[in-house]
Amino acid sequence: MRTVAVIGGGASGMMASVTAASNGAHVILLEHNDRIGKKILSTGNGRCNFTNTRQEPVCYHSEDPAFPWKVVENFNAQSVISFFLRLGIYSKNRNGYIYPNSDQARAVLDAFQMEIDRLDIEVHTGVNCTDVRPVKKGFVISTDKGTVRADRVILSAGSKAAPSTGSDGSGYDLAKKLGHRIIPVLPALVQLRCREKFFKDIAGVRAQGTVSVWTKEMCIARETGEIQLTDYGISGIPVFQVSRYASRLLYEKKEVYALLDFMPDFTGEQMYAFLRARAGTRPEKKAGMFLIGLFHQKLSDLWIRLSGIHEEKKAGDLSDSELKTLSSMIKEFRVSVTAANPFEKAQVCCGGVDTKEVDPVTMESAYVPGLHLAGELLDVDGMCGGYNLTFAWASGHAAGLAASLADTKN
Ligand SMILES: Cc1cc2nc3c(=O)[nH]c(=O)nc-3n(C[C@H](O)[C@H](O)[C@H](O)COP(=O)(O)OP(=O)(O)OC[C@H]3O[C@@H](n4cnc5c(N)ncnc54)[C@H](O)[C@@H]3O)c2cc1C
Repeated sequence: MRTVAVIGGGASGMMASVTAASNGAHVILLEHNDRIGKKILSTGNGRCNFTNTRQEPVCYHSEDPAFPWKVVENFNAQSVISFFLRLGIYSKNRNGYIYPNSDQARAVLDAFQMEIDRLDIEVHTGVNCTDVRPVKKGFVISTDKGTVRADRVILSAGSKAAPSTGSDGSGYDLAKKLGHRIIPVLPALVQLRCREKFFKDIAGVRAQGTVSVWTKEMCIARETGEIQLTDYGISGIPVFQVSRYASRLLYEKKEVYALLDFMPDFTGEQMYAFLRARAGTRPEKKAGMFLIGLFHQKLSDLWIRLSGIHEEKKAGDLSDSELKTLSSMIKEFRVSVTAANPFEKAQVCCGGVDTKEVDPVTMESAYVPGLHLAGELLDVDGMCGGYNLTFAWASGHAAGLAASLADTKN
């Protein structure tokens, strides 16, 4: 019987283990935390958004853009939903976002644990893997508790995001030692820090809008949704979605700014005309109250102040240029992005093992026959909405299947 060692007991490692064991392999799962699947517990705010029925290539990013889709196509959202149904997880669909019906991330981990027990997978927790060495027949894995021998190895040690859950980036070192190139690893799906001092005045405000990331007058990414303003910058799902681009530009030492559009349904001209008409309807209204009912008071106060308009001025006395300034504050509120929040706050990382060196069907290394790689360790990051777990399941499944079946090495 072939022995498959899986390094890292997160989403991709558990999927790889269960798949390999279901296909007849003897699986040894090595995890340096005191338990497996710790990160899963915090996914989807404790509810685990484990896939999404909207699946398109644009939902995944990589320097090798075709790679993620080749992997996901072979184990798509329907395969994920069916897999979990077999494990007892009945799913709940919220506009395409899929959760366990119980709304408990714990259920996903419990289901895996039961399957791992049923398949007699050897789980070793509290074991830190420090080296993987290909030998004549298989591999020798060095750990802080001694060595482990295996015919095949699946490296699924995750990224650097949320390191308190165990993903401390050590997987990159292991992959590098085996000859793989690491594309610089940066925080993604994360908040963005901004330079402006006024953020402390608008902290806590949430508003529907569009956020776009720019460098040198060029728009790099754009997303609409609920923007959250914090005392240090911007957050919320649309900010998370564009954060990977800001992270990369900042890493390249480029100047980055974001434009916030708080009225995306209006063009600039429509916004101006709207404000002009509003001023005409209630000309006696003070400027300080002019935007009340349209935007949060904190935002309205800030814009009036930044526009240099006296708050006691009557709406009817607002000049064209004052209304235009207000209109552009609402439509193109420019903030300077100085940093992405650190890995501790990031949900995922962009960058990782160069996927040009990995087969998308078997997840086997191009350099080391018998070594398979899966999950976020690779240079693949998905959008917020169940895509990162989908890639973890799909790549883990492919690796587990190939490691148990293929016979290229021995
Ligand atoms: C707060 C938060 C919420 C999220 N919510 C969602 C969501 O709702 N939907 C979604 O799709 N994605 C979500 N994600 C992203 C998703 O959780 C990850 O993309 C996914 O878990 C990655 O799986 P993985 O197996 O590659 O890595 P991980 O799950 O990080 O697993 C890697 C494992 O390897 C272990 N390990 C690392 N190095 C070693 C070593 N040297 N020796 C032994 N063991 C090692 C680690 O301890 C860890 O258990 C969220 C992430 C976070 C942080």
